[in-house]
Amino acid sequence: MPKMKKALLFLLLLFTQLSSPFPIFLESLEEKKMAFVQNYLESFYDMPIRGNKIKRWKNGTQLVEKIKEMQKFFGLEVTGQPDEETMEVMKMPRCGVPDVGGYQVTDGNPKWNKNDITYSLINYTPDLPKADVDSAIEKAFQLWSHPTPLKFTRSDNNNEADIQISFARGAHGDNSPFDGESGILAHAYQPGRGIGGDAHFDEDETWSKGSRGTNLFLVAAHEFGHSLGLAHSSDPGALMFPTYSFSEPSTYVLSQDDINGIQFLYGQSNNPIKPTGPTTPRTCDPQLTFDAITTLRNEVIVFKDKYFWRKYRQQLRPEFYMISLFWPSLPSGIQAAYEDVEKDLVFLFKGNQYWALNGYEIRPGFPRDISNFGFPRSVQAVDAAVSIRQSGKAYFFVKNQFWRYDNQRRAMDPGYPKNIADVFQGMTNTVDAVFHRDNFFYFFTGPTYYKFDLRARRIVSVGRSNRLLNCR
Ligand SMILES: [Zn+2]
Ligand SMILES: [Zn+2]
Repeated sequence: MPKMKKALLFLLLLFTQLSSPFPIFLESLEEKKMAFVQNYLESFYDMPIRGNKIKRWKNGTQLVEKIKEMQKFFGLEVTGQPDEETMEVMKMPRCGVPDVGGYQVTDGNPKWNKNDITYSLINYTPDLPKADVDSAIEKAFQLWSHPTPLKFTRSDNNNEADIQISFARGAHGDNSPFDGESGILAHAYQPGRGIGGDAHFDEDETWSKGSRGTNLFLVAAHEFGHSLGLAHSSDPGALMFPTYSFSEPSTYVLSQDDINGIQFLYGQSNNPIKPTGPTTPRTCDPQLTFDAITTLRNEVIVFKDKYFWRKYRQQLRPEFYMISLFWPSLPSGIQAAYEDVEKDLVFLFKGNQYWALNGYEIRPGFPRDISNFGFPRSVQAVDAAVSIRQSGKAYFFVKNQFWRYDNQRRAMDPGYPKNIADVFQGMTNTVDAVFHRDNFFYFFTGPTYYKFDLRARRIVSVGRSNRLLNCR
């Protein structure tokens, strides 16, 4: 998360206010926030534009309804209020095409009535060498041609190409001006004549072929989904999800949700091998399993593949995100995690590497090797970890054994490893994840959790893993 950037922006706003010759009112920051919310809902949620912005929200049941609609789309707690979590999502860089009720994606599944589609590049961004732009665009089209009968050919005749690609900043002649750096990154038009199918990229972004700035391949692939007739998906693992997050381009594949969408419009490819894509975990799937669980300050964080759930306070519906949205440099498939509350650090493990988080920031100098904890060389991965605040001890579960680590001394306690089954009687399987609350360890193995009473030293109940996410 670009927290620094946000803080800086806030200071700048404040500075502009302080330097204005007019008296400063306390409401003005709140008014700015509400104007931002109003503008977001007008742009992406079909909120009617009329009258004075600030007057409107004060008596707006419609505004509350639109905020609820947005919260539902992004899987946030539906409060109807522009709370912290909602503002966080609204401020994420995203696509300029509306999520619902938009002018270009809703009616009648518009599609090209042919499989051979032409495209042209009207101009180039100065951010990248031309060859890199060409290759990003070509690879973005390949994602969509792979599971379908579609073929994309570059045309030299700019005016005749079906999909015309251009870079522009600010107002650029289509009544949908870009907004400077961040915010809206690009937009594209549904299939049709003229501007139909065209994709525009905001030149005020810094386009890149890696993880810095905004990755052109990822944004182009998303926009071409619109050029082919797809709307936004509320599946956070789909390419057609409206907010931007970085994924490694060289290994990028369409999610099953994207494949289903494009095949609904154009059918399957003639290739005998039918491509499939990763499916996004469903929060209340009874077969749901977890990779790692930890507390992070007053939140609970649950890792699964390239995703995580975040549950704070008494929140009923946990939020669900891509790991890369918050931590672009972390890998998917985190295997173990625990919090050292005293040091305000969360440790994440994958293979023989580990990372330390302070809040949502990754500490510099990571990843490091897990041998720093005192594991023997034979240990190449940790299955699960948990820490007990009161005793300052962390427990590491590796296959059928576990180690106990002293957070204060930064060393393993003597007498370890021990067999899991000897100390935690009834636990016979390897552990996926473990979580500590009150006087219990909750061991997660597959779709089942075991609640172990640390005083009575026995399992006191067994249930479905997804109960952790408040599923019934
Ligand atoms: Zn979009
Ligand atoms: Zn445009």
